Amino acid sequence: MDMNNLDFWGRSPQELADLMKARFKQPAFRGRQLAEWLYKRGAASFADMTNLPQGLREALREAAGMTFALPVVVANLVSNDRQTEKALLQLADGAEIETVLMRQSYGNSVCVSSQVGCAMGCAFCASTKGGCQRNLSRGEMLRQVFHFHKEHAPVSRVVIMGSGEPMLNYDEVLAFIRLLHDPGVIGMSYRHITLSTCGLVDGIDRLAAEGVPINLAISLHASDDETRSKLMPVNLRHPISQVLAAAKRYADKTGRRVTYEYTMIEGINSSLQQADALAGLMAGHLSHVNLIPVNPIREKGFYPPTAAAVRSFAEALEKKGIPVSVRKTMGDDIAAACGQLRAQRLDTAARH
Ligand code: SAH
Repeated sequence: MDMNNLDFWGRSPQELADLMKARFKQPAFRGRQLAEWLYKRGAASFADMTNLPQGLREALREAAGMTFALPVVVANLVSNDRQTEKALLQLADGAEIETVLMRQSYGNSVCVSSQVGCAMGCAFCASTKGGCQRNLSRGEMLRQVFHFHKEHAPVSRVVIMGSGEPMLNYDEVLAFIRLLHDPGVIGMSYRHITLSTCGLVDGIDRLAAEGVPINLAISLHASDDETRSKLMPVNLRHPISQVLAAAKRYADKTGRRVTYEYTMIEGINSSLQQADALAGLMAGHLSHVNLIPVNPIREKGFYPPTAAAVRSFAEALEKKGIPVSVRKTMGDDIAAACGQLRAQRLDTAARH
């Protein structure tokens, strides 16, 4: 692909209006018309954009080159219960990412990847196997959502919990969040957007100062530093006390309850003593604990505790007044559950 091509995606209606004036010598309203075709009317080609003059459609098509047709859908898998769909998408440079749609009773959610791969090295996560190849642009993140967002089946929630660490791609992730919120794009409420981080303190503080009241989720996964450092190398840089202090600053500043994700692994972090220690950490925090039975990683010998053990762990937290829920696993039959993204394909590629 010619990198000089102009990508119209990932630009707000205002930015498209400015571009229309500066580059195509057109009135600003043409930019807003283009935005409407991209974000509201699902145009499949420039030829579809019938309210734009023929000459302009040609000029836009030429400027965009191949970019308009991206990403290429390599595969789209649907789970047996039809509640989960996973798309494997190929980007301009050939990189492949996965995006997941979850149909829930309260609406459609999309799980978006923020990087190709991930550098954080968490022991239980499949996204990090090959390291991080690169950041995704705001347009590449937006197109993941638009792969599933349709007029008759709108996406009402976005979780930035796919592959990648969003705080290491801060500027593009934030621009993406603002685009989702733009009424000329989707107009999604900030309260319906969740960003999950492994606990990068600088990013959490930056986000708190942004005035963008999204939900913050922190991947905690352990209640003591020794266990957390074994599971998450990032803990050597930002131990639990630092992460919790930053999360508390976020909650104080935004008034938003912070979600703590806790992936439960049998024999590692799922004992009742560990539940009590977790409750101790959460005391005085505006928090919610989300327990995630680990999706098995056979090579590492990581398996989830029994359902009864997960329930006891949750009850131990409840008894101490800590709000807690158990995450429903979705799409495990198509390897779309947490931590499984892209890895299968990489494994297959490695065998060739
Ligand atoms: N880098 C960010 C976002 C991506 S991970 C973060 O660390 O939060 C999204 C969530 O899936 C994290 O809480 C992560 O710990 C969890 N996860 C990763 N692998 C998993 C697995 N095998 N089973 C269950 N949850 C997993």
